[in-house]
Amino acid sequence: VSTEPLSTTERTRLGRKPQRGAADRDELYAVLDSGLICHLAVVVNDYPRVLPTAYGRDDDTLYVHGSSGNSTLAAASGRQVCVTVTHLDGMVCARSVNNHSMNYRSAVIYGEARLVTDGDERIRALRVITEHLIPGRWEGAREPNRKELAATSVLAVPLAEASVKSRSGPPIDQEEDLTLGYWAGVIPVRTVFGAPESDTELPVPEHIYARAGHTLSG
Ligand SMILES: Cc1cc2nc3c(=O)[nH]c(=O)nc-3n(C[C@H](O)[C@H](O)[C@H](O)COP(=O)(O)OP(=O)(O)OC[C@H]3O[C@@H](n4cnc5c(N)ncnc54)[C@H](O)[C@@H]3O)c2cc1C
Repeated sequence: VSTEPLSTTERTRLGRKPQRGAADRDELYAVLDSGLICHLAVVVNDYPRVLPTAYGRDDDTLYVHGSSGNSTLAAASGRQVCVTVTHLDGMVCARSVNNHSMNYRSAVIYGEARLVTDGDERIRALRVITEHLIPGRWEGAREPNRKELAATSVLAVPLAEASVKSRSGPPIDQEEDLTLGYWAGVIPVRTVFGAPESDTELPVPEHIYARAGHTLSG
């Protein structure tokens, strides 16, 4: 794992409120490791396309996967892409409509997507994605067979050029609005799993309970 700080590039320089940016690589990892889906942006035939998709992280590589027939993944291969991960943590209500905001943690990553062709790396990437979503699931289900692997594309995006931004805390009102008599505060937002719903007579395995009992963004 790289210990290099997140150095700003022309593309990742925050314009507004740069104090909400993070320079620490660990903060990038924290945002990625606590998310479930990313948004992958690719230019396809001269127009932008943004695709929500699952992902996983292995050190400084982000992996996404999909059907080998997926035109977005095909268009992304060998091209510059942008990937975002967003956590919404709270609705911030100020005294004035204008000062309403959201508490969040988010990451924006730029890089060239590499089509993973090496057999071992493909398996490792699929395992990383599976284990990221539900730890313990790779051992808890059948591994992909040759036919399934042939029908799967895996892309790797380097975590070299990225920015992280977050907001937390109460609303920030203008001094003259503080005595207007409007309610102000934060409504927290959390992503939670529900109780597992079995599709089998078998007992629910521990790794499923462990995942279901976990509050993702809390
Ligand atoms: C859930 C959520 C809701 C938001 N709602 C609004 C809204 O309604 N209106 C609004 O103006 N802004 C909103 N933002 C903030 C928005 O994402 C931008 O940060 C903001 O518009 C200022 O952009 P900028 O001028 O700093 O950067 P830009 O000049 O737009 O972008 C320059 C670079 O800064 C980096 N960057 C910018 N924003 C982020 C980010 N959020 N996370 C990581 N890197 C970033 C990227 O690398 C980007 O390439 C929201 C953010 C989140 C996560």
